[in-house]
Amino acid sequence: MIAGFQALAKRLPLSHLKQEVIKERLNSINAGFGGEERLDHLMKYFDPDYPHLIIQDLPISTNVDFQVDTLLLTQSCAILLEVKNLSGRLRFTVNPSALHQTKASGEEKGYQSPLVQAEVIKWKFENVLTSLGFDLPVQAYVVIAYPNQIVVDSPPGSVIWSADEVMIRLHNFNMPPEKISEVEMQQLGQRLLNLSSEFNPFPLAAKHGISTSEIGTGVYCPDCKTIKMERCKRSWHCPACKLKSSDAHHEAISEWFMLIKPSISAAECKKFLELEHLSKARNILKNPLYKRVGNNKMRRYYREMHVGIHKK
Ligand SMILES: [Zn+2]
Repeated sequence: MIAGFQALAKRLPLSHLKQEVIKERLNSINAGFGGEERLDHLMKYFDPDYPHLIIQDLPISTNVDFQVDTLLLTQSCAILLEVKNLSGRLRFTVNPSALHQTKASGEEKGYQSPLVQAEVIKWKFENVLTSLGFDLPVQAYVVIAYPNQIVVDSPPGSVIWSADEVMIRLHNFNMPPEKISEVEMQQLGQRLLNLSSEFNPFPLAAKHGISTSEIGTGVYCPDCKTIKMERCKRSWHCPACKLKSSDAHHEAISEWFMLIKPSISAAECKKFLELEHLSKARNILKNPLYKRVGNNKMRRYYREMHVGIHKK
């Protein structure tokens, strides 16, 4: 997900209207990055005496796509935990709601308020439950992943948990009366997982109303990131850092799959990599990284799922 948004930011003109939205998404993905693992680790020891299910990183695709970091499902309610991992001093403001981070270096950064985010996710999740025919109360909490995150000025009435206290809070949680049977709870968990398996965030361009023609072409330097490489003989050269690479095009093709569509033809590949000859594109695609489907002119290439892309 993060690689997809980075590729989108790189390949759209700097002045593009969507750059701001993409920057915000990258910001918020980065804000959670690493925090979820810590909570997952702490939740391993959570073993209450009532039937429950814990589902982590649950992407849900309905008419609106969203993700739940940690879901605790019980017979009485659903508890959503929205994990944040931001170092330094965290200050909440209201009117309008936002989160301001001051890092140890003094650098300041602004984010969408996690409290608002949690409320939005709660509301979306309630709608999903209703659409599945389940009437279950939903609670959402913001969890701060590490003790070195110092929260000041949290809005009155808001509840923010530290990851270390999550287990105690949940153990002491005042559970509302049971609403569904244990079997129904299992069924609900399964149906939520089914919804998530249909979820595919790619291709990003179309999902964000960006047309293919707006996406920049070419092979970018893996070190300089925003500098395009030039093709010389059998390899790519970066005019800025002089890096030579024989396989930088694979990263570009992987970006095509994330941004544009799940398949590519030799002609599309020639254009996207800015190659001179179609035969060169065919050569590049003749690789265990790609799966061939169809014959001759109709042939298309898909990402081969079993082979990872080696990044240098
Ligand atoms: Zn370079």
